[in-house]
Amino acid sequence: MTTDERALPLDLDPSAIQRLGRHAVDFLADWVRELDSAPASDYGQAAHLVTTLRRPPGDGPGDFAALLELFRQAAGQGVDTAGQGYLAYFPAGGLVTAALAELLALTVNRFTGVAQVAPALVAMEHGVLTWFCDRFGLPAGSGGLVTTGASVATLSALLAARHSHGDGILYVTEHTHYCVAKAARIAGLPAERIRTVPATADLRMDVSAAATMIAADRAAGLHPFLLVGTAGTTSSGTIDPLPELGELARREGLWFHVDAAYGGGFQLTERGRDRLAGIEAADSIALDPHKSLFLPYGTGLLLVRDPAVLHAAHAADARYLQDLSPVDDLPDFGHLGVELTREFRGLRLWLPLHLHGVRAFERELDEKLNLAAHLHNRLTQDSRFEVPWQPDLTVVLFRLRGTDEDNRRLLAEINAGRRVYLSSTTIDGRFFLRVCVLSFRTHADRVEEALAIIRSAC
Ligand SMILES: *Cc1c(COP(=O)(O)O)cnc(C)c1O
Repeated sequence: MTTDERALPLDLDPSAIQRLGRHAVDFLADWVRELDSAPASDYGQAAHLVTTLRRPPGDGPGDFAALLELFRQAAGQGVDTAGQGYLAYFPAGGLVTAALAELLALTVNRFTGVAQVAPALVAMEHGVLTWFCDRFGLPAGSGGLVTTGASVATLSALLAARHSHGDGILYVTEHTHYCVAKAARIAGLPAERIRTVPATADLRMDVSAAATMIAADRAAGLHPFLLVGTAGTTSSGTIDPLPELGELARREGLWFHVDAAYGGGFQLTERGRDRLAGIEAADSIALDPHKSLFLPYGTGLLLVRDPAVLHAAHAADARYLQDLSPVDDLPDFGHLGVELTREFRGLRLWLPLHLHGVRAFERELDEKLNLAAHLHNRLTQDSRFEVPWQPDLTVVLFRLRGTDEDNRRLLAEINAGRRVYLSSTTIDGRFFLRVCVLSFRTHADRVEEALAIIRSAC
């Protein structure tokens, strides 16, 4: 057997780590430097790359610089969801400090599924979770789990609700994210157990209609068990009447889940706390730091009033885990959710929060609230547009006074300029353009530019 001199051993020596690491970090710095001038969307090379990049890996070693170059080309195609001009769906951006945390966590690669194996790392993650619980006004003793996103958090919340309150009927609105219905389906709940409570003209759950439906279900011998409120709906960013919903859930003995996937981050701001008032009555809260806390995709949180219920709904025992016993009051994350083995996900929250400080997040979010209010204000002043709803947070919906087709054309025209990227939604059967200001990279200059582009595309 001959040894290939160029072979890169799997077990890198420290100098190889430094060499490759520097190369990768230089790449990142260049990438971020060029974000501002990069197109908001680009499909120019997409078809070509889609066909060429599927080739299988070689038996021998590759060249890091050449491979990075392929990655650079691939990453530049499609919609730039990390750039200043991304105003569609839910921008986040992806804090670089969270990515550095991830590099550290994945290299150290300690197992954090059970506390006994890495008690201090689990304590770091647990500290972040209890800090969030505290910010939401949940009582001492509450806790939760860092998940990959709100969909997975919602599944675990639903399982906990069912474990605690028994199987039965759950209540949403047409504006509730479909992850609730999906979680119900995964949990084996038939679709006919989901009640769609009517929404009021301002797109919020109609609380008295919910009460009527709950009473009707009880009268029919059914068992209502779960009420889902949304703190920032996906289409319009609207916040359901949380105090009234919490009160209804308490009166009726229902588990109260709040989907704060988008809105939750705003709890760090004064206006956000004002608008999310009532969330402290929740039994469970799902939120997505990969939306309103600017973290990279794959970062969700589930907060629960009573972690023992979460444990009871998910924990399982196995002989091969017999060496592991609980540590003091530290959670065993592998027993609180769907996953056992997981990366040390807490560091991507812990490091940015400790490094930048909480005020930095608050300031950014306050700026986004101001920018969305400004955008709403300017669009409202232009008589060509219909702007029916005041934004609760940072989503603004508008449409041309014309047909849906006119509006579809307007959206295509705006996005074709490739400086901004907007999305759309349909409310009450009508097409609306949708702007969401949320990235930590988006500031007043790009929002003004977006306004100019929208006006001139009409
Ligand atoms: C994005 C979103 C979800 C789904 O979250 P994922 O992180 O994509 O799983 C759920 N609810 C609301 C309100 C959302 O905006």
